[in-house]
Amino acid sequence: MSLSQPIQPITASDDEIAQALADAHLPSLLPALAQITGDLSLLRDELRPDTTSLLPDPSGFVGGAAAAEAARALALGVLARFRDGGCKVAPPPDRAFLRAILAWFAPDGAIEPYLPIVEEELSVSERDLRAPGWSKQELAPERPFSVAVIGAGMSGLLIAYRLRQAGVDFTIFEKNDDVGGTWYDNTYPGCRVDVANSFYSYSFAQKADWPQHFSTQPVLLDYFRDCAEAFGVRERIRFRSEVLLAEWDDERALWRVRVRTADGREEVVEANAVVSAVGQLNVPKLPDIPGRERFEGPSFHSARWDHSVPLAGRRVAVIGTGASSAQFVPVIAEEAARLDVFQRTPNWMLPVEQYHAEIPAGQRWILTHVPSASHWHRFWLFWRLGDGMFLPRARVDRSWPDLAHAVSASNEEMRNLLTLALKMQVLDRPDLAEKIVPDYPPASKRILVDNGAWIQALKRPNVHLITDAIREITERGVVTKDGALHEADVIVYGTGFQASKFLTPMRVVGRGGVDLHEQWAGNARAYLGVTIPSFPNFFCMYGPNTNIVVNGSIIYFSECEARYITSCLRLVLAGGHRALDCRKDVHDAYNAWVDEGNLSMAWGVAKVNSWYKSESGRVAQNWPFTLLEYWQKTRDVRPSDYETID
Ligand code: NAP
Repeated sequence: MSLSQPIQPITASDDEIAQALADAHLPSLLPALAQITGDLSLLRDELRPDTTSLLPDPSGFVGGAAAAEAARALALGVLARFRDGGCKVAPPPDRAFLRAILAWFAPDGAIEPYLPIVEEELSVSERDLRAPGWSKQELAPERPFSVAVIGAGMSGLLIAYRLRQAGVDFTIFEKNDDVGGTWYDNTYPGCRVDVANSFYSYSFAQKADWPQHFSTQPVLLDYFRDCAEAFGVRERIRFRSEVLLAEWDDERALWRVRVRTADGREEVVEANAVVSAVGQLNVPKLPDIPGRERFEGPSFHSARWDHSVPLAGRRVAVIGTGASSAQFVPVIAEEAARLDVFQRTPNWMLPVEQYHAEIPAGQRWILTHVPSASHWHRFWLFWRLGDGMFLPRARVDRSWPDLAHAVSASNEEMRNLLTLALKMQVLDRPDLAEKIVPDYPPASKRILVDNGAWIQALKRPNVHLITDAIREITERGVVTKDGALHEADVIVYGTGFQASKFLTPMRVVGRGGVDLHEQWAGNARAYLGVTIPSFPNFFCMYGPNTNIVVNGSIIYFSECEARYITSCLRLVLAGGHRALDCRKDVHDAYNAWVDEGNLSMAWGVAKVNSWYKSESGRVAQNWPFTLLEYWQKTRDVRPSDYETID
């Protein structure tokens, strides 16, 4: 795979183009047409897209179906002329041109500050603007310098690629026998991404032929495998190699990394810097329900699915109803004789009709034949599903009277729409209606994506949604507080991950022998989610407070982090420093700011259970601000934030 798939020239007839346009996502196609023709007059006022409504017209346009019809006719003429002219693309747009496109999206200027991100996202100059603009060869050609990267999932592959671009030596240690991280571990039936793939993919490795809007796990695993090859990093991965300990040597100013190798031996490898790319959701959490070990049948966690255990015709108990269960329950419900689903807290669910749908042939044709169409589509998702629509609706209005149910007027509006969407699905099942509508504010927990499959599954005669609390597990099944035994042949735990135990079970020992987990004392914190005082040249990807609840894709964050980490390494190499250590005052002030930010978001104030809080009650996972703010903060390293070790 080349990094981004090349665009094919248009040879289709007018009729074929018209047919493709019937499936087109027009609000994001028009800017692409303006860009390839250099003609801003295509972006007419009457064809303005709706970028902020929670419930926009299905056409995506403020002007509804009539605007969509006009846009389609306009696009047909433009594409036919583009084809007839030999598919010659106008010169790359300058800033003024892009600014005009953003003003068409949002005349109130709300998107204008995103201009630099748009330039990067669109790679308008056809360069990967997030790549390091330096090389070790220029900065410190003689200096031996190597980086140990822990993990070959989405983030590990990315930082490895950036290091390779900068000519910095690295080795990736991966405990599994293949790349992919979470997409390798989670093989449960129905596993797929719930952020549309144009956005859940690397900005510089766009794929125009995703089969579905939201890819399944095998498709994603293949994407990351292809990326590992295309990035040229696969041969630098040591598979089945688990990092047990990373220990800083004060005297020699380098890290000693203890690795358990494929043959069970332990080996120590030295590195000048370490990047932890182990993720937040990699250690399964089994519930501490009494008697769990007594159960006589097979049982397993969703992220360690035991495909050797047949479920067909058997009684299956599923504990937990989070994002993972919501995906596998509808699949296994079809084969289990009886499926008892134990729910502690119901989820808000966002109706997304095309969640399991193929990308229509016409839309795929556009993405493969119209230059920059996929980039503008990605930007559309970035804006509408991110900072533009959801984030403002998760922000707490302190004057709002009933914070236990909604956190602001717009959150209440979202609550009402989501309640309606749930209730409409259970008009015939008042017993379920009582159980499935949450009582906490939307966005306090992750909002799940819903195309009806979850509730259809719950309505099946062989499926029972049990909301009584679990008392214990016995040899024969699950006993609820009312004393009822729910007999089961198999138990599946969809109980999530030890998300607040960052970087466990690995040990990390920094300056003066300080242990990272002791320093954190159950409350993981880092500067920008990346660096930690007393841990020089140690960097985290997807570290503390870099997760998002409603706005965006984790890959976006990882791209920001990778840029920041490589900027730090540039500083080390260019300045001839042995290492950088984050200043404690900078780190503490930053975390106070983040904590305050989280306390102004639904997930920070809500009392509902969520994996977004550590045991102390602090939100250790989430970034409470805009995607723009994270980009701004990580765009370059500020030398004054660091003490140098020389
Ligand atoms: P999760 O969201 O943490 O859900 C765990 C479930 O188990 C919750 O329903 C929880 O109830 C329940 N639970 C935990 N301990 C329990 C106990 N002792 N007794 C009874 N119930 C218990 O875990 P997940 O579903 O694996 O998802 C984790 C995250 O992974 C998601 O939020 C998402 O970020 C990511 N994910 C993404 C996708 C995707 O994009 N497709 C798919 C899967 C996962 P409470 O709600 O009451 O705590």
